Amino acid sequence: MECKLCLSNETIPNLRFDRDGICQFCSMHEEMNKEYPLNAESEKNIFKIAQKIKEDGKKLKYDSLVGISGGRDSTFLLFYVKKVLKLRPLAVHYDNGFDSDVSVSNILKVCEKLDVDLETNVADWNSFKKITKSFFLAGVSDPDTPTDVGIFKTMYKTAYRENIKYVFNGHSFRTEGIEPLDWTYMDGKYIRSIHDKFGDGDLSRFDNFYISDLVKYKLIAGIKTILPLNYINYSYDKVEKILSDEIGWTYYGGHHHESLLTKFVVSCYLPKKFNIDRRLTSYSAMVRSKKISKNEAKKIISKKSILEDEEEKLVDYVLNKLDISNNQYKEILNKKKVNFRNFKTYYSTYKHLKFPIKLLADFNFIPKLLYLRYFG
Ligand SMILES: [Zn+2]
Repeated sequence: MECKLCLSNETIPNLRFDRDGICQFCSMHEEMNKEYPLNAESEKNIFKIAQKIKEDGKKLKYDSLVGISGGRDSTFLLFYVKKVLKLRPLAVHYDNGFDSDVSVSNILKVCEKLDVDLETNVADWNSFKKITKSFFLAGVSDPDTPTDVGIFKTMYKTAYRENIKYVFNGHSFRTEGIEPLDWTYMDGKYIRSIHDKFGDGDLSRFDNFYISDLVKYKLIAGIKTILPLNYINYSYDKVEKILSDEIGWTYYGGHHHESLLTKFVVSCYLPKKFNIDRRLTSYSAMVRSKKISKNEAKKIISKKSILEDEEEKLVDYVLNKLDISNNQYKEILNKKKVNFRNFKTYYSTYKHLKFPIKLLADFNFIPKLLYLRYFG
């Protein structure tokens, strides 16, 4: 069972095909293509948006905000916003305690070279650890959700404090692709319900993101999300060359490997427990946008993304840091496979809010792709 066009296969729960054998993610990609066509005009559109951002923020210390992880996409985003769009962004970083040395050095280098102020929000380690551990104990497919939510909250609470109305997002549907909701799901109620059942930390010390935050930051403060990489012909090779030539940025060896926790999740935990290879979403996207052939992509992801002895060391490091014993980890791997559908979340509430959420997407308050992932 594989999509005629991309690499989507039976490892994705709730995968659907149309009469021609094309999956729902390829259809979403097509819709995104219509919304963000690549032609001679496309980059002009992002310049127009940048002009408005400049005017709106001319009295502020910063006119925009960029979240940075030290990875390729967020580093290039900061470079593009500052050097190409000529804006005055504030860079923010969420430190969950798992940054690799390479990513820390990348973050410092890029901010210094571009002369951009950096603010780092260091997670309260004890609560972050216990919440992330509760996700592993629950046996869900997205134990990096607390990190993603922490990043999200950090960006919005900082933008709110600084009165910044534009937050940049470094996602590109043409290269990073569309992560299935059944693989990764993100909301504050999901975190609370998993933690209530499997955790013993202090949730009040964690940067969670509830519906009330959505109302505060989107509807009241009117903070918009802009995705510049959807307007340009974004390709990994070119971007990596620009970044290493211009700012001495260093690659860390694999997709999402800039964080040791994410590296563990995508290269060790998910393949072993769920047979999920998250590279599939990115390579599917690049197949759809004809950056690579389907055969070539399949050949790449048929090989493991991590070496055996490196894997052993990484597993030890992460389990130790999260206070998960080897026996507990064995139990986790053998436990029933579950995901957000087995827990209390905002998902059913969002389903009732389809129309207002579509409006938020139409007016750039939330990414169009987010809307498609939930309702597409
Ligand atoms: Zn497909």
